[in-house]
Amino acid sequence: MSNLACEPEFEQAYKELASTLEDSALFQEHPEYRTALEVVSIPERVLQFRVVWEDDKGQLRVNRGYRVQFNSALGPYKGGLRFHPTVNLSILKFLGFEQIFKNALTGLSMGGGKGGSDFDPKGKSDNEIRRFCQAFMRELSRHIGADTDVPAGDIGVSGREIGYMFGAYRQARNRFEGVLTGKGLGWAGSLIRPEATGYGLVYYVEHMLQHAGQGSLAGKRVAISGSGNVAQYAALKCIELGATVVSLSDSKGSLVAPDDGAFTPAHVAAIADLKAQRRPLTDFHYADKFKYFHGARPWVHVGKVDVALPSATQNEINRAEAETLVANGVLVVAEGSNMGCTQEAIDLFEAQRKEKGAKSVWYAPGKAANCGGVAVSGLEMAQNSQRLTWTEKEVDDKLKCIMKSAFLAGLETAQKYVASKDGELPSLVAGSNIAGFVKVAEAM
Ligand code: GLU
Repeated sequence: MSNLACEPEFEQAYKELASTLEDSALFQEHPEYRTALEVVSIPERVLQFRVVWEDDKGQLRVNRGYRVQFNSALGPYKGGLRFHPTVNLSILKFLGFEQIFKNALTGLSMGGGKGGSDFDPKGKSDNEIRRFCQAFMRELSRHIGADTDVPAGDIGVSGREIGYMFGAYRQARNRFEGVLTGKGLGWAGSLIRPEATGYGLVYYVEHMLQHAGQGSLAGKRVAISGSGNVAQYAALKCIELGATVVSLSDSKGSLVAPDDGAFTPAHVAAIADLKAQRRPLTDFHYADKFKYFHGARPWVHVGKVDVALPSATQNEINRAEAETLVANGVLVVAEGSNMGCTQEAIDLFEAQRKEKGAKSVWYAPGKAANCGGVAVSGLEMAQNSQRLTWTEKEVDDKLKCIMKSAFLAGLETAQKYVASKDGELPSLVAGSNIAGFVKVAEAM
């Protein structure tokens, strides 16, 4: 019996990784890696602090702040900050743990970390958000630095929040350095960083489709959940590549296109505007062109789709939803969100991977499929170190290369360590887990 506090999300992420390592030939060939797994599962450091801030009525409010500095074997701790009322240590440990291996898969020199607060940005004014960010950074600034720990955004933290925190860091430390990524273009940010997670996800999916002999995204029906940064840019890239995007969603419900309809770039731009104002999809101007499912995720409402891209939050496809997607002929499921699928959903997709022909499904975990965001964060760090700004094309080309090599690392590592039958698609879950883990274990 363990006397540790229960951490369900972290335990889920740990078991998902550990079980794929156990089931492969890795530990037989390298028994010393068992110890590496024990070591890597404990954060190097966990910081917890109090954040006291003032609301618009002049009342003092207090929230919990965290930074999990999980592993620095490959480089400075790197990973986002999440501001959401559900944030607790279990969620940040799961995210930080995943981040270690995701960052390893980018091939860049970045360790893994994650942080955030249970602060809820919804319903707060700009001034309240600014005062919260400044109070949060007053404490966090002691523990981070361009060569120590480089936070970025995640749910509830976008360019505006990064701006408030970057200003607070400069004041607190009297240093202008690449201590945060996702900065504005006028103050040492990188081109393509806002687009990177969504674009990278779509580049990854193109490799999956091509390898599976399913052609390209052109003409495919794509269901997407979420309506934040990841979902928006994934939708735009899918549309640009000729796919039909049939859904987007937020925490209150889902918008689904009718059979002959689809989201256009203008729809996505209108949704981006709404989200920037922290308004729900129910305020969407073009809502009459779509079906709205209150309190529901899109998966059981989208009908036949070829590609599903969960891009909202963790555990957003459960077993029943996975069954519906499979019954409706989905070919590829790739996570734009971190741990977007429950273990039961993954088990179903992994079982379907072994099927041939029309029933075959190929699943890609977030730590591989959504690594484009942190990859361009790594490129932002490189530009900051050089005090240079690369062109949009340079960054996008590098992002494409990184997504290709993350895909190939998962594929080839699965072929090396995981037994499979002739003609079966390799497991990208096992392959990506092993590839990321081995890199970190060797460095440790
Ligand atoms: N929050 C993003 C992720 O989950 C980006 C992290 C970063 O850019 O550091 O990978």
